[in-house]
Amino acid sequence: MTYLFFEKIKNIYLKVKIKFMRKLFISFLLLISCNTSNEYFNNAYCIENINLIDARDGLKKNMTIVISENKILKVEKSSRLVLSKKNKIYDGKGLYMIPGLWDSHIHFAFEEELANSMFNLFIGHGITSVRDTGGELSFVKKWKKESQNNPNHSPRVKIAGPLIDGKFNVYNGNSVYFPPLSVRTASVKETEEMVLDLIKNDVDFLKAYEMLTPEQFEVVIKIAKKNNLRVSGHIPLSMDVISASNLGLNSIEHFRNIEMSSTNKTQELLYERRNILKNKNQILGSTLRTSIHNSQRISSIKNIDTIQLDKVLNVLLENDTWQIPTISMYKGLAYEEYNDDKWKNSFEYLPLKIKKKWNAQILKRKSPVNDDSRVFSEWQKSMTNIMNKKGIKFMAGTDTPIFFQTPGYSLHSELGVMVESGLTTMEAIESATYNPALYFNLQNELGLISEGYIADLLILTENPLEEISNTRKIKAVIKNGNYMNRKSLDSLLYNQSRN
Ligand SMILES: [Zn+2]
Repeated sequence: MTYLFFEKIKNIYLKVKIKFMRKLFISFLLLISCNTSNEYFNNAYCIENINLIDARDGLKKNMTIVISENKILKVEKSSRLVLSKKNKIYDGKGLYMIPGLWDSHIHFAFEEELANSMFNLFIGHGITSVRDTGGELSFVKKWKKESQNNPNHSPRVKIAGPLIDGKFNVYNGNSVYFPPLSVRTASVKETEEMVLDLIKNDVDFLKAYEMLTPEQFEVVIKIAKKNNLRVSGHIPLSMDVISASNLGLNSIEHFRNIEMSSTNKTQELLYERRNILKNKNQILGSTLRTSIHNSQRISSIKNIDTIQLDKVLNVLLENDTWQIPTISMYKGLAYEEYNDDKWKNSFEYLPLKIKKKWNAQILKRKSPVNDDSRVFSEWQKSMTNIMNKKGIKFMAGTDTPIFFQTPGYSLHSELGVMVESGLTTMEAIESATYNPALYFNLQNELGLISEGYIADLLILTENPLEEISNTRKIKAVIKNGNYMNRKSLDSLLYNQSRN
């Protein structure tokens, strides 16, 4: 009896104690949350309950992001940040945010009449930064300056200036297909002077082209290194990939001429090319280049030697030579995708004059397309997969507006073909966000959704990790902190077509 009585008292005591401890714990939690509750951010806006996606942290659900002026001020779990109602708050429930996208291969100078519309087309499609891979210097400088003067409404512009080419330069302005995007340098001295002049003009990187001699190519790389600039390019036809990468070429566009260095006849092909490049008949650079591609490209792809290819890939990996494959353009050409409704619908954003011009050019194209272009496209896709698996880095770029690619629209197509080729959706996003920031040494301020970073961001209605085409489902674009909703994006896109 006495024992039971004491047991009862003990149980009551324990229950009271547990209740008390629980109360104490809840008060403690409240105390913590009080510290962060009702926070007010002056001169800022907040997006609550949104799902964030970036290349460092992957997917983070139900987050609050605070943007002040042009920067991300705070990133916090929504459950831990109670906002004062006085804040300007957007509801992000069910939405996804990714960093603003880059198109890392564009040409403002290819269709000069379209250049005026390109800023709006890029921003309207969520492209907040672009890398111009070749055009007349004063022309591309103008767009860079314009972007710097109006960063809230224009993409960030990085420029190479003109393609640095050799004595028989390819893009020499001799036809509509070869506008004057390049400079001709006929000797090592001329190349050197040109590079120094470009650096004086504040270019952001250099683009080396196919007709350079090895000596000219070497001088480009040497001066670039001294000035901390990256060099991108096509492998000069007078060289092989391994020696160009070993010299210090930082990135390769379109996998150009890699196939010629990946067969068991690489040295013979190189010898043959060097002979042709002497150009005894003094034919045009563009014709000369095309004749070499025609004679060596497809036969090389059909005779890839796995041991030689592996050697090439190991060198690219070891030297950190990045790739900008521009695969959606080649796939579009090979499979005549420019005739598809989806592709054609993107022309509705273009100025009427350009839309008519492109439609007329498409009508004149040969159909069906030569099988070789399909061989090339399939090879590019398989190389994208193999190189990515190996750990070689990628940047998404499209070559817009070349070959009927609507600026902005085409970047989303590129991401699609990258995933189709074997990249994960996250890797594709990384190739258009974090990687280009890293390429330009901006990784500590751009390309992630992180406190202190520049607020270049996209809000999507659906998850792009589940389906990459969801990058097209843009609800809002934030450029340099400036929030543009769907309505303002549409007015940017459709304003062009009224021109
Ligand atoms: Zn290009």
